[in-house]
Amino acid sequence: MERQRSAQGARSGFAASSAQKAAMEGECCLVCWQLPVDPAHLIDKSVAPDPSGDPLRVVPLCRRHHDEYDSRDLNLLPYLLPSWRQQLGLAVQVHPGAIVGALNRITGEVWAPVAQAPEPSGVAMLDA
Ligand SMILES: [Zn+2]
Repeated sequence: MERQRSAQGARSGFAASSAQKAAMEGECCLVCWQLPVDPAHLIDKSVAPDPSGDPLRVVPLCRRHHDEYDSRDLNLLPYLLPSWRQQLGLAVQVHPGAIVGALNRITGEVWAPVAQAPEPSGVAMLDA
């Protein structure tokens, strides 16, 4: 039973749901504005399963930019705001690494949070 489920998951890894395909109708590639496009998962289904084929999990990319994104050679972050804000928000929500994991995947770069000490002048202003 487990084995069967895994095989099914692997097969569906490349297929977009009908709702995801429908969401791409009338859209051009968000990078180059060319047609045709297909649905590209912002967060890979292997990292965050998408059993229901949520249309908010995908954005429209032409084949060239889809391949570049899948190869981690394309930073999509500059192209997502403001129009694809909902998809970006859901990407952060579903990625197991939350905002840092989603940022790493979407930009193709490695990000790490850095703690900063508060500015001493800020404390002085509060005391004044
Ligand atoms: Zn394109």
